[in-house]
Amino acid sequence: MNRRNFIGSIGNTSLALLASSIPGVNAMNWKNTSNEFVFVEAEQFANFGGWNIDQQSMEQMGSPYLLAHGLGIPVEDATTNITFPSEGKYRVWVRTKDWVAPWNAPGAPGKFQLIVDGTPLKETFGTKSAVWHWHDGKTITVGKNATLALHDLTGFEGRCEAILFCKDTSFIPTNDIKALTAFRRKLNGHPPTPALGGNFDFVVIGGGLAGTCAAIAAARQGVKVALVQDRPVLGGNGSSEVRVWPEGHTNKEPYPHVGDIVNEILPNIIKAPGQVLNGVDAKYYDDQKKLDIIKNEPNIQLFIENRAIEVQVKEHKITSIVIQHIRTGVQLKISAKLFADCTGDAVIGYKAGADYEYKVENLMGSSNLFNVLDATNKEEVLNCDCKDKSALALKCEIGDYAQPFPRCPWALDLSDKPFPGRKGVKTFGEEGLDSFANMWYWESGFNKDQVNQIELIRDHNFRAMYGAWDTIKNVDHMYPNHRLGWSAYIAGKRESRRLMGDVVLDAEDFKNHTKFEDACFPCSWHVDLHTPKKEFKEGFDGNEFISDYTRGEEYQYGNLYWAPYRTLYSRNITNLFMAGRNISVTKTGLGPVRVMRTCGMMGEVVGKAASICVTSNVGPKQVYEKHLDKLLTLLKEPGKKV
Ligand SMILES: Cc1cc2nc3c(=O)[nH]c(=O)nc-3n(C[C@H](O)[C@H](O)[C@H](O)COP(=O)(O)OP(=O)(O)OC[C@H]3O[C@@H](n4cnc5c(N)ncnc54)[C@H](O)[C@@H]3O)c2cc1C
Repeated sequence: MNRRNFIGSIGNTSLALLASSIPGVNAMNWKNTSNEFVFVEAEQFANFGGWNIDQQSMEQMGSPYLLAHGLGIPVEDATTNITFPSEGKYRVWVRTKDWVAPWNAPGAPGKFQLIVDGTPLKETFGTKSAVWHWHDGKTITVGKNATLALHDLTGFEGRCEAILFCKDTSFIPTNDIKALTAFRRKLNGHPPTPALGGNFDFVVIGGGLAGTCAAIAAARQGVKVALVQDRPVLGGNGSSEVRVWPEGHTNKEPYPHVGDIVNEILPNIIKAPGQVLNGVDAKYYDDQKKLDIIKNEPNIQLFIENRAIEVQVKEHKITSIVIQHIRTGVQLKISAKLFADCTGDAVIGYKAGADYEYKVENLMGSSNLFNVLDATNKEEVLNCDCKDKSALALKCEIGDYAQPFPRCPWALDLSDKPFPGRKGVKTFGEEGLDSFANMWYWESGFNKDQVNQIELIRDHNFRAMYGAWDTIKNVDHMYPNHRLGWSAYIAGKRESRRLMGDVVLDAEDFKNHTKFEDACFPCSWHVDLHTPKKEFKEGFDGNEFISDYTRGEEYQYGNLYWAPYRTLYSRNITNLFMAGRNISVTKTGLGPVRVMRTCGMMGEVVGKAASICVTSNVGPKQVYEKHLDKLLTLLKEPGKKV
C-alpha cells in the first residue's frame, strides 16, 4: 500500500511512513515492504552537548554527522527527544564507523553508546567497519516518547550520522548513498524538489576570505548578492575553526585600495616578527567581526550553514544552484546572473563542467592545526577552548596540575621515531613544544584526493597528533602538566582543483615578471610548495605526516607581482568567476597566490568586476575585452564604506 503516515515534526525527526512508498526501495531489494520507522538525524539533535557538526564529507558519506572531538576526554552527551509512531519493540540501527579501521589499527577509539530513556543499549558503537554503515543495535522496547543521548566513551573522535528505529525487526537499511539519501529525505518530510530561495545578481559560494570579500565588494557597488557558506562562521582557513593566520601584502601602488576590504574584515592585529599566530586563541580570528560586517550590508543575503550541492547549467552558463542546510536538511534553489566559486575545491565550477586541473599526485596536503596548554598557567587555563574548561580550572584551583594522557595504540606509533617536538629533534631550528604545537607542517594526504578523501586525510592528521602526544607524555615522560588544548576538526586545505581561465598563471610568470595589461591584484608570498619532509617520512610511505616547503633564490620573485584579472573567471562557463586558491594557476603558480590576504584581494577584484557585469550587462570575459578601463578605475576607489 502506497500510504505515507507522518507522525511528529521535522524538528525532532520523529516521522514514520510505509517503506513501500519510497522509490527505489524494491529496486534496492530492501527486505521490508511495509513498516514504520523513526529516522533520527544526528545533526538534528536538539542539544549537541560537546559533539561537533561535521559536513566536510557529506557528498561522500551522505550527510553531516556529529563528532566527539574531545582530545581524549569524553565529551558531554548530545540529547534529543523523539516520538514513536507506536509503542513496542523496535530494532535500532546506528550509522557510524570505526575511524581507525582504514589502517587496520587496533582498539576502535571512537566508541560511544546510545542511551534510550536513561538506559544504554548493550551494543557499543564506533567499533566496526572502515566505512560508514548501519551498526545493528539489536532490539529495544519503547513507549510513545523517548529521550536519546549519544554518550561518548573516549573523547577520541567517535562519530554518529543517524539512528534508525524499525518496527519490522527483519528490516535491513541500505548503505548505498543514493538510495539512502532518497530514503532519509522522504522520511524527514523533505519535498522532492527544493523550494525557491531567491533570484540574485550574483551568488558567491564559499565564505572564506576570498568569498567574503567578493560578496562585500559587489554589494557595495549596488549588486544584489547571496553568500553561501557551509559553516556557522565565515573566514574559511582564517576562521577560529581552522586558525590560519592570513599573510600577503595589501594596499600597494598603483591600486592602494585593493586590500581595503580584506583588512577591514580581519582583526586589527599586527603580527610581530617571528610571532606564531597559527592555531592560537579563537579571539585572534574574530569570527563575529566578519559576520557583523556581512549582516550590516543591506545588499547581501547570507546563507550560513548552507552547502552548495548541485548546479544547473544551460548553454555554458550557470542558471542556479541548490544549497542544503547542514542541520535541517532543507534545500533551496537560488538563481543569479553571475556566480563566483570561492569554495577552494572548485566545487561549483567542477559540477558546472568548467575546465579545471587536478591530479591526485604530489599534492600539498591538509592540516588540522592544534595547540597545547600548560595547566599551571592560570591565564592559559581560563582562556582555553577545552570542552571541560570548568573542570580543568577547578582542578588547578586546588593545585592538581597533572595532565595524564592515555596510551593510543590505534594512533601512529611514533615511540621509536623522530618527530617535531620530541627531545633532541630540531625542526626548522626549533625544538620542544615550540616545534610541536601550532605548526603548519603537520600535514598529510600528499597522494590522496583532497576533495573525496578528506575524512581519511583529516583522520590521519588526528592519528599523527595523538600518536605524537602519547609518545611525548607516556614514552618520553615530558610535559606532565601540559595537555592538548585545541585542535581543528575541519581540515585546512591547501591544494585541490584549479579552474582554468583565459590566463593560466605559472611560477615562471612571477619569476619573469610577465606583464599583463589587466594586472590587478598584488602577490607577495614566495613560490611556496610543500612535499613530505624527508627526516620524518621513513616508515610512513604513503602516510607521511610532516611537510617541508620550497625555499631559496629559485622560489623568489622580488617583493611584489601583480597578477592578471583573466585568472579570475572561467574560460568556458561564461558567467563564472573564481577567487581564492581555486583560480586559474598552474600547480607551481598556486604557491604564491594562495595566502589569504591575497585571496581576499582577488575577491575584491571579482566583486567590482561583477558590478560592471551587472551594469553593462556583460559576462566576466567581456569585462576584460570591453570594460577593462572601467575595472581598473574602480579598483582605484576605496573598498571601505565612505
Ligand atoms: C595549515 C595551513 C597553513 C597555512 N598557512 C598560511 C599562512 O600562514 N598564511 C596564509 O595566508 N595562508 C596560509 N595557508 C593557505 C590558505 O589558508 C589557503 O590557501 C586559503 O585559505 C585559501 O582561501 P580560500 O578562500 O580559497 O579557501 P578557504 O579558506 O578554504 O575558504 C573556502 C570556504 O568555502 C567553504 N565551502 C567549501 N565548499 C563549500 C560548498 N560546497 N558550499 C558552501 N561553502 C563551501 C568552506 O567551508 C570554506 O569556509 C595555509 C593553509 C593551511 C592548511
